[in-house]
This record gives sequence, C-alpha cells and structure tokens, in this order.
Amino acid sequence: MPETHHSRVLILGAGPAGYTAAIYAARAGLTPVLASGLTPGGQLTITTDVENYPGFAEIIQGPWLMEQMSAQAAHVGTRIVADIIVSVDLAARPFRARGDSGDTYEADSLIVATGAEARWLGLPSEKRLAGKGVSACATCDGFFFRGKRVVVVGGGNTAVEEALYLTHHASEVTLVHRRDSLRAEKILQERMFAHPKIRVEWNAVVTEILGGGTPETVTGVRLADPRTGAVRELATDGVFIAIGHSPNTALFRGQLAIDAEGYIETVPGSTRTSVPGVFAAGDVQDRIFRQAVTAAGTGCMAALEAEKFLAAAG
Ligand code: NAP
Repeated sequence: MPETHHSRVLILGAGPAGYTAAIYAARAGLTPVLASGLTPGGQLTITTDVENYPGFAEIIQGPWLMEQMSAQAAHVGTRIVADIIVSVDLAARPFRARGDSGDTYEADSLIVATGAEARWLGLPSEKRLAGKGVSACATCDGFFFRGKRVVVVGGGNTAVEEALYLTHHASEVTLVHRRDSLRAEKILQERMFAHPKIRVEWNAVVTEILGGGTPETVTGVRLADPRTGAVRELATDGVFIAIGHSPNTALFRGQLAIDAEGYIETVPGSTRTSVPGVFAAGDVQDRIFRQAVTAAGTGCMAALEAEKFLAAAG
C-alpha cells in the first residue's frame, strides 16, 4: 500500500551535500527524511582515492567516505529511504514528492541535493558502443581493459585522474584533449606527464568512435584537429569519456529557476532558490567549485537556512 510520509525537512540526494544537510537538520531536532535516489553516495561512489577531503592524513576511498557520512546521518536521527523521486510539486506547502515506490513525501521545507552526472560527447557511435568499450567511469570499468589500450577524453581533473587510474589495468593510456593545455590541477598534471604509460593527443576532437567485430566492440577513435580540420585515426580498445558533468535538475524544470546550463539558481551567499522553503546544495547549484567539501559546506548552509525558515513559518 502506498504511504504518505510527512517531515519538516525532506532532502533529495545522498552525496556530501545531502548527508551534511541531514546531519545538521537532524541535530537541530527536525527529524529529516532523506531520499537516496539512483546513486546513493553520489559521485564519490564512482571514484577511488580521495586525498583532498580534510580530516584524513592517509588517502581514503570515496565509497568508504560516503558510507561514513550515511552512517553519521542515520546515527543522529535521519530517516534514509531508498526511494527514487519521480516527480515533485512545489506550487504550495507542504511540498510534495512522489517516489517510484508509490509513496508520497510531504515536507514543510525541501533541500535539493541531487548532484550532477557525467556528460557524454553526444555522438551516435558513442551511444551505440556504450558498454562495448565506451564508458564514463574508469573505476567501474577499468578492470575490463587489462593489458589493453585505452583513450580518455577530457582535460580536467576527472580526465587526468581517470587516466592515472587506468594505468593500473591498461597497457597504454592516451589522453585526448581538444586544446593544447589542461585545466586539471598542476599536481595531477605532473603525475600524469611523469607516467610512462600515458601520452597526450593535443588539439584533438573525437568525431567518431570506431567499432568492429561481432559482437561489435571499440576499435579506435577518429580525431579532428580543430585548428586545421585535419583528421587522424587512433587504434584503441576502450574510450573513457571524462568531459564534466550536468546537474540533475529535470525534476524541477518549470518549478524552480534554473539557469541556461541547467543549474538551480540560488541567491548569492545562500542556498535559497526561487521558491521560499526550497533550498539547493552541492553540485546541483554549483557550476564553479564542485568539490565534495564545498558540497558538504552548502549542505550545512541549506540545513541552517531551512531551520530558520521553519522557525519563521511557525
Ligand atoms: P571540468 O573541470 O569541467 O573539465 C571538463 C573537461 O572536458 C575540460 O577539459 C573540457 O575542455 C573538456 N570537455 C568538455 N566538453 C567537451 C566536449 N564536448 N568534447 C571534448 N572535451 C570536452 O570537469 P571535471 O574534470 O569532470 O571536473 C569537474 C569538477 O570536479 C571540477 O571542479 C574539478 O576540479 C572537480 N574534480 C576534482 C577532483 C579532485 O580534486 N581530485 C577530481 C575530479 C573532479 P576545455 O578544457 O577545453 O574546456
């Protein structure tokens, strides 16, 4: 039987932003409900080494960190439900969210912490070969490329980290980047340039992922030089796309102010959205920093602002 649950604070998303909001809201006595969605633990569950989250002198693992946050949120009084929210109604309070379990969640305030997910190039060949050599997660799929050649597409931290990670499995890693300089942090760049298994194809836009064999698997990539248009091909067994992330805001379109790139708009210096009582934290509203620690920080802000809102609303 579908049930209706009521809470003072409903939190959507189980990454650093959602769990931190839950910890603060629970400790404020608000007994929050947190719907953990499709990827409990968020993006840190598909990463391995974390060495920039403060508080740990040793390198820790992303999935472990998220288990700790989840346990902490539950320990202080959060009700974590493994439901995927499929629709929300923010037109009136209490706000309503419907889960794919059939249950309805009513709440006097809402914290949106639904994060972001990997972006794709948008090529038909990328779609056709997804799971057949094309992936967006080296830590999930790197194992399948033991002793093989792989390409990583992108020039940010994710791409460089994925390239470094893939050296544990692959015989040869080629980073393909559309410009002639990387935006990844210097320390990561230095590690990558020093690695004997990694080389970089500069000024290279992937125009097609090539496949062959039965069943079809990746055999190479076609690259175009954006300066000259010159085309070249590179043989490879796998392609990892690491070109950034898009915010998960489809649920809120038409109900919250969302910018041209899909991020929820918040009042500067705050997590307030265009709807009073709805707050947004973490990567879903952060186009600039997108770090676990900044997500946690805005999660804390959202809980404190929700608490204030509820106190004023009575
Ligand atoms: P990002 O910093 O936005 O970098 C995306 C990269 O992909 C850029 O180099 C971009 O090229 C390239 N790109 C974008 N669209 C493309 C397309 N259609 N075709 C080819 N290349 C394309 O994304 P990210 O690396 O995923 O990082 C996201 C955020 O998470 C960043 O703030 C990053 O610092 C953070 N992060 C941090 C860590 C860490 O601290 N250890 C680890 C991972 C991620 P251009 O450079 O030409 O724009």
